[in-house]
Amino acid sequence: MEQFICSNCGSKHEITPTLWKCECGGVLDIAKETPEIDVSGWDAYPNSLWRYVQTMPFKKDSKTWEGVTMGEGQSPLIVLDSEVPDTYVKVDYMMPTLSFKDRGAAVLMTLAKELGVKKVIADSSGNAGTAIAAYAARCNISCDIYLSDTTSPKKIDQVKAHGATIKAVRGTREDIAAAAQRAVDEEGVFYASHVYNPYFYEGTKTYAYEIYEQLNGVPDSVIVPVGNGTLLLGVYYGFKELFENALIEKMPKIVAIQAKHCAPLAEAYRNGEEIAQPVVNEGTLAEGIAIAAPARSRQILEAVRHTKGTFIEIEEDEILDARAELSGKGFYVEVTSAVNYAGYLKYEKHPGEKIIIPLCGAGIKSK
Ligand SMILES: *Cc1c(COP(=O)(O)O)cnc(C)c1O
Ligand SMILES: [Zn+2]
Repeated sequence: MEQFICSNCGSKHEITPTLWKCECGGVLDIAKETPEIDVSGWDAYPNSLWRYVQTMPFKKDSKTWEGVTMGEGQSPLIVLDSEVPDTYVKVDYMMPTLSFKDRGAAVLMTLAKELGVKKVIADSSGNAGTAIAAYAARCNISCDIYLSDTTSPKKIDQVKAHGATIKAVRGTREDIAAAAQRAVDEEGVFYASHVYNPYFYEGTKTYAYEIYEQLNGVPDSVIVPVGNGTLLLGVYYGFKELFENALIEKMPKIVAIQAKHCAPLAEAYRNGEEIAQPVVNEGTLAEGIAIAAPARSRQILEAVRHTKGTFIEIEEDEILDARAELSGKGFYVEVTSAVNYAGYLKYEKHPGEKIIIPLCGAGIKSK
């Protein structure tokens, strides 16, 4: 069985249903070597992110995922505009719960099922909670989702539909996480956190594997929205594994996007800091990335710097314009997801640069 390793003090821990962070306060990673990638084995699996299951830290030939999957992954990669042939959108809103969070949730809930978990708790600004609730339902695992009482009503309805118990909390995103963490510790249940549990990133890393197959290579840059960094770190780990297996010849640049009204990572990047100082969320339409104190800030900043990427901050008035422009091209995304396209419009792309814009959440999720 795999072990967790603390990103802060380096101590190793057995993976148990109730351990979610190191006693030193550090976030946990999976203690593992770079997997050896056997591309020729992929076709033996269904057309989903489970095509890459051999690269994930599960017992070899474990079939638990077969009872969990809802066909997530393998989202389309489409040229955005025939006049700009090097710009692609990856349509991750075409997932079972209409956001990319299904990638991580499917893998994380597979771990929960393997551990024999009976109940999970998660906190979310909406989409992660929906994804965890859906996969928990599929696994017959009971589920409480902590979220803000200001979350988009449509996202709350989605969580409820899967039979999860909603714990609406008044307060900041950090207050909500703290309430969930207290409940996890008091009840002694599994914390199905997309931020803390590193198995979530084993799901989001498949985003990079799919791009590698769809382009038959590596793009120059990938635009990635970032709040807690679950897509960003997945993209980074996925491409890193492909690079270390010599399947791609370079790492794509990670162009990270934050809403200016809540941009602790962009600020730390600008100031040359290794970790982000918490900021005050001034309020943004991009509810899904409004994270004032991201727990994995050190890893996110390292990833962006290591790929020679950058940060771009988006003003409020740019968000709705970008959403309207995308809809005009046929792609209807939720408000949070419009920042990705707004970031692309602000990015100084060089001619011929192959770039990917993720469309992370479906338009009907938000107002
Ligand atoms: C979760 C989410 C994000 C940001 O992900 P982080 O893990 O917080 O960086 C961006 N867009 C949408 C639609 C999301 O659901
Ligand atoms: Zn530690």
